[in-house]
Amino acid sequence: MAKYKHSQEILDKCTNFKDIKWFKPEEFKYPHLMDRDLLLILDSVREHYGNPIYITDDYRPANINYGSKTSLHKYGRAVDIRSKHLSATNLYKLIENIMYIINLIMYRLHSKPGIELEIDNSKDNKHIHIGLLADNKPSKLIIKC
Ligand SMILES: [Zn+2]
Repeated sequence: MAKYKHSQEILDKCTNFKDIKWFKPEEFKYPHLMDRDLLLILDSVREHYGNPIYITDDYRPANINYGSKTSLHKYGRAVDIRSKHLSATNLYKLIENIMYIINLIMYRLHSKPGIELEIDNSKDNKHIHIGLLADNKPSKLIIKC
């Protein structure tokens, strides 16, 4: 699990982590730039899933040279996550939890985003991408294997 050292100035800006139980700013490269609603979803997924979830990518600065130019990561509205033993059973459980939580807590969110869910289960890149689209955009599922 990645642990990033942040200056006190950055940590002071992490008001978006208020009441977030399972994730600390140190687990994110750019914690202060993460969308609050996304953190709420992530935290609830982790609570119900019951197993550790690791952040493998979060906010991406404009000058980063991988991924899509229009990626939700550029807005702090996407995370890539992994779970330790992502067996087919655990993958099912995690996806089931993500779908359940998104439906359950949508009313608590400040916005009504569409969800971008990507499951990458290819040989050398296993992760799940959760992104928040613009409000009321239709949700989409992308599967790579
Ligand atoms: Zn992603």
